[in-house]
Order: sequence, then structure tokens, then C-alpha cells
Amino acid sequence: MIDYENLRKANEPFFQDYQQSFIRLLESGWFILGGTVKQFETEFAAFNGNKYCIGVANGLDALILCLRALHIEKGSEVIVPSNTYIATILSILQCDLIPVLVEPDIRTYNIDPNEIEAAITKKTRAIMVVHLYGKSCEMDTIAAIAKKHNLSLIEDCAQSHGARHKGKMTGTFGYGAFSFYPTKNLGCLGDGGAVTTDDEIFAGKIRMLRNYGSDKKYYNEVVGYNSRLDEIQAGFLSIKLKHLHEITEHKRTLATLYHDGLKNEFIRPQVHPDYYDVFHIYNIRHPKRDALKEYLLQHEIKTDIHYPVAPHKQKAMSGVLLKQKFPISEEIHATTLSLPISYCHSKSDVQRVIDVLNKF
Ligand SMILES: *Cc1c(COP(=O)(O)O)cnc(C)c1O
Repeated sequence: MIDYENLRKANEPFFQDYQQSFIRLLESGWFILGGTVKQFETEFAAFNGNKYCIGVANGLDALILCLRALHIEKGSEVIVPSNTYIATILSILQCDLIPVLVEPDIRTYNIDPNEIEAAITKKTRAIMVVHLYGKSCEMDTIAAIAKKHNLSLIEDCAQSHGARHKGKMTGTFGYGAFSFYPTKNLGCLGDGGAVTTDDEIFAGKIRMLRNYGSDKKYYNEVVGYNSRLDEIQAGFLSIKLKHLHEITEHKRTLATLYHDGLKNEFIRPQVHPDYYDVFHIYNIRHPKRDALKEYLLQHEIKTDIHYPVAPHKQKAMSGVLLKQKFPISEEIHATTLSLPISYCHSKSDVQRVIDVLNKF
């Protein structure tokens, strides 16, 4: 059986380093906001090319804290892609803001920059983009639109650690919100997240918001949260970060095998020299997606669907978004299939998936 993902296997190369780090932290007796978090923040900021990185509890919180730090008045509108994981939209709703969904480009699955300006109203305050599957959005165009209309720009980088557009890292165009959930390209062994920015004042606000609104212990300046990255996860993340390039290159090699090996009947992700894609997910599209998934399973190959139900079709969105129509997003949700592309997969695993797929 080829798993879709196997987190034990994907983490096995780091077990020894993880164990040493865990024992060191256990014996230190310091578990929250200490030197290990600080060190990871410095390392991740350097990796991404940002001045500041602030560790938080998870990716959803990273998005929420970005919106909170911007002090956007309740009822304002935030532009967001219709084709995303629901967490992006939840962050907007959690801050009592209105998500205005914009359709994706069917070739990239990311927000269509040509559709953004039509969605801007007097109430729009921010654009929240998502670099879905590990491909950057068209950030030069989007950053120019944000600037022209004086809108804040937040990037959901939960799937895009290390992805670049025209050589520039995701999370450096606007405020970057990262997740370190175990399956992400840079995943820890629990929950984790971070915010990246070059703006010192914004960084200070996030640092306060994550820790009860406090800068100095027992002195609270704003109504904050408890949303901290813990020392043990930060220790694991520092170890994995050293190997992130290797993990990404492994995924890119597997993606090239799929790209070159799969027959044209399968719609593959767009490859373009302006984009350095990190393939958090490698998806194909096919009109008989469900039959294809079943066929692969019969041949002992597990796949996944990202995502089976579009956000605006979720029950949680009743009364919020359900009445609107997003046909491109729905088309993607109905036809997309995610193929195995983890650090735990070998080239021969992927070759087997290709051989089986080409006989469909
Ligand atoms: C995983 C993910 C999130 C949420 O991250 P958590 O750490 O699970 O809270 C947000 N947005 C996208 C696009 C994601 O893939």
C-alpha cells in the first residue's frame, strides 16, 4: 500500500535530533516563551527574508492575530479566495469582518488577480490571499492593487513555506501567516504557527496579542489571547527548518516525475518559470475524480481530496455565503485529486502511481 501521507516515516530521519532536543528542553524546565522559541523565530525570519517572526499557537490564530493587529473596524470587508481551506475564511468571521469571496484562476487554483478590483468597495480594508497547494499567488500584481487602493495585504502561507514568486518569498509581500501543523511542509509534532513581517510596530502588536496583550509580565495593555508557540515544538521546528530545502527539493523532484510521466488526460499543475512551487499538495484534475480515487485504492494507492466541499457550501456558512455562486471553485472541488507527494515517498513509489494512473 502506498499511503497518501505517513507522518511517522516522514519524520523518521529527524528522530534522533528530536529526542535530543526534547530531553534538553525537559531538563531545562522552561516550556513557554523561552530561548528555543526566540531562536526559531530568528531562524525562520532569516530563512524567509523577514525582519520579524512571531511564533503563535497555529495557522488559524496567525491569521486572526494579523487581522486584530490591523484594528479593522467591525463589519468591514476582506477580500479572500473562494477556493481555499475554510480556516482562511473563519479567521475573517472570527474578527466580525465580512469575507468577500473572489474566484480563482482555473489554471493556478489561486485567486484571480483580474477579479480583485471588481470586488473592492468603500468597506474593503484588506486582501487576504492564499498560496494554495504551495504555489505563490501572482503577488506583484496583487501587491500593486493593494497599494493602489490602500488595503492591507495578508498572506495565508500555511501551504507555502519557501515558495517564491519572481524570486521573492511568500510571506514577504504582506503580513505572512504560517501554520506548522504536522502535515505542512514545515510541520512540527503538534500545533504551531507564526506571523512574519518587516514592520516593527506590527510585530510588537502580534507579540502582545499572543500573550494576553502583555509585554511586561502582569501588565496588560490590550485585550489579548493565549496563542503561543511552545518551546518543545519550536525545538522540533528548528531541526526541521535545517532540512526544509531538502524536503522541498524532494517534493519538487516527485512533482517533475508526475508532470513528465502522466498522460495528458490528467490536468496537472501549471509550471511557470516565475514560480518556485513547493508542492504542499500535488493535485490533478479529472472529470471522473471519484472513480479515479476508487481505482487507485483498488491498486493500493491512497489519495486525498483538497477539498471535497467548497467553503461557501459548508453548513457553517449558512446565512453568510450559501446564497452566492462560485462555479470555478466548485468545478475545482468536484474534479481535484491529491496524489502522494510526501518526504516519505520515493521516486519508485511515484513511478508506480504514474504507471497505474496511465492505465486508467
Ligand atoms: C492548514 C491551513 C490553515 C490552518 O492552519 P492550522 O495550523 O491548522 O490552524 C489555514 N489556511 C490554510 C490554507 C491551511 O492549509
